[in-house]
Amino acid sequence: MTQRANFRGQNVYAYQVSDATWELLKQEYDAGNLTLPCCGGNAVPKEHPTSGTRFFSHAPYAGRTCEWKATGALQEELVREACTVLDKLGWKVESDCWCEGVAVDIIAKNLETGKRFAFMIETGSKADRPDDTLISEDAILTNSDLDKTLWLLPEQRFHQLKNTVEAIPFHRATVDAENTVGNLARSLRRWLEPVETSNSEQPTQSDVRGDPLPSDEPTGIEADPEWQDGKSSVGSPAVRVDRLTRLANRWLSANHANTWLNKVHPSISYNNSPLGAAQCAATGYLEAQNALKAEYDAILNGTSP
Ligand SMILES: [Zn+2]
Repeated sequence: MTQRANFRGQNVYAYQVSDATWELLKQEYDAGNLTLPCCGGNAVPKEHPTSGTRFFSHAPYAGRTCEWKATGALQEELVREACTVLDKLGWKVESDCWCEGVAVDIIAKNLETGKRFAFMIETGSKADRPDDTLISEDAILTNSDLDKTLWLLPEQRFHQLKNTVEAIPFHRATVDAENTVGNLARSLRRWLEPVETSNSEQPTQSDVRGDPLPSDEPTGIEADPEWQDGKSSVGSPAVRVDRLTRLANRWLSANHANTWLNKVHPSISYNNSPLGAAQCAATGYLEAQNALKAEYDAILNGTSP
């Protein structure tokens, strides 16, 4: 089970796609056009019967030959939630990656510092994933080109491993998987926010010399190559609509993106929605792209309604 699949050479994420795209992906699976990042096998779009969480799964006959670590429904929910947290904080997220033979849940890049972190979320039992396995995976990742490896471990395992690997604990609730998901998201946020602050508080060369800080280095959504593309070459109506949809899904949560794209927006001319404006005219697209940045900034600053 993964959050990521490959579709015609592009990554698609189960946690990001709109309902319409999800239906389309099901048809693409039938046509054999959707593959898994772990082994290249066919990716089957599925939903958990209780939580509704979307994920990609192996076709039944292919699962056994794949060398990706065994994962379950809870693991999938935790990966999805951690991706969402990182995404909202402006990290560029890739889930379900192989790195030097290790199955990595998430590799995320901080767009402000350029640092790449591996996030390893552990739900396997000690019998399936013994401490030695975790420690040797940590050593491989530490020696790779990644800047840091962070383990998210249930409390009990955290206490056993905290002196050996860099880890944060989450409380594994016995009652409801949803509580466990919430606990992990809170732990991760608490850990990431001080990291972000300490990075921005480190004195830079410009500070030391008393020069103004460089202000032309794009951050957040402006650092997205597609956002930059959109400023200079807006393209045909179809290109504009596709780009805006991808940007919205990347920088807003999937549900929010869908609503936002289709709702009439006050800062867009002709009483139009962002998608409608992108379809209509190049200037409409630019208004929509700027409105998306305003929406993203408002969420980041906590001023979103
Ligand atoms: Zn596989």
